[in-house]
Amino acid sequence: RWLSIRTVQSRNQGTAATTPPRTIFSGIQPTGVPHLGNYLGALRQWVTLQDGAPRNTSLVYSLVDLHAITVRQDPKQLRQWKKESLAMLLAIGLDPNKSIIFHQSDVPAHAELMWILSCQASTGYLGRMTQWKDKTANEKDSSEKLKLGLFSYPVLQAADILVHRATHVPVGHDQAQHLEFAREVANGFNHTFGRDVLIPPETMISPARRVMSLRDPMAKMSKSHPDPNSRILLADSEETIRRKIKAAVTDSVDGITYDPEDRPGVSNLIDILYHCDAHPAYPSQDELAKDLAGLSMRALKDRVAETVQTTIKHIRASYAHFLNENDDLDKVAAQGAEKAAKSAATTMKAVKSAVGLI
Ligand code: ATP
Repeated sequence: RWLSIRTVQSRNQGTAATTPPRTIFSGIQPTGVPHLGNYLGALRQWVTLQDGAPRNTSLVYSLVDLHAITVRQDPKQLRQWKKESLAMLLAIGLDPNKSIIFHQSDVPAHAELMWILSCQASTGYLGRMTQWKDKTANEKDSSEKLKLGLFSYPVLQAADILVHRATHVPVGHDQAQHLEFAREVANGFNHTFGRDVLIPPETMISPARRVMSLRDPMAKMSKSHPDPNSRILLADSEETIRRKIKAAVTDSVDGITYDPEDRPGVSNLIDILYHCDAHPAYPSQDELAKDLAGLSMRALKDRVAETVQTTIKHIRASYAHFLNENDDLDKVAAQGAEKAAKSAATTMKAVKSAVGLI
């Protein structure tokens, strides 16, 4: 049931007549300008899926602002990030005429379904989630500080997916466990109420490995990390890209080899190069590393910076354009919310009827 994104893409080449209808849902938190990890791990696939989708595929992409407030946000900053994130989704190539693009909090059905699913979800299962354990590792002694919203985050994520009857969910590796949870929730609900109301979604794991932090290559690149030099933003200038990659933590071993366990920093740079370039000539990172073996660390970093710059320069230009078009952004958000609310209404009717609320 673990479907690689390449398999799904090749299936997408079929016609509407030969492929069953599918709904693709995915989300990103508007917690800052998306970074290279978001792009290689998720956003790039959103666009590929949109552009290769047969007519009977619905694409639903959400800026999940209710997820963003599971940690404290400055209200003014959050408003700005929501705008920037929407501009970025348009800049990478999402088209509001082909995909439903909306802010999660504009469609109350997400939170409503979350509550209904919360009444079914097991706290034991939620407590075992890796992301919950990671995020709370340092706060073990102060459960007063741990917020219920952060704990039940995967239930909201399940509601996001299930409310649109998504059949496929493209995400990075870090979200795989949450998707498994969403399947369990759907199956559990259907079993409890004796009817197939919710659709257990398939996960489409991105072929890109997790992109790691440039400053701590054992941790994933993340929007919310306090060190801005740990990530490359899709809006970064060429000069900033070069500076951040130059300062990336590597090691003092001679030569370039691909070894994520022992040489995580260098391997992260090779991964970035491999996935940015979509190197058709190299079947794997190992093969690419063989050709890089003679380079100095500095030369490798120059090459990575060059490749990243080539990958994102068009996105950066397009982003600047959309960010200035306030009215257009508002219009896209309003239209997206209207379409998403319609998509969610059918599920909510069936769910409420199954539970006995209507
Ligand atoms: P935050 O730091 O605010 O938690 P984030 O950078 O982890 O944010 P999300 O908004 O949680 O990003 O995730 C959006 C999408 O990007 C998800 O599909 C997730 O799997 C993917 N993603 C996030 N970080 C990475 C990464 N470092 N490498 C690959 N994919 C990633």
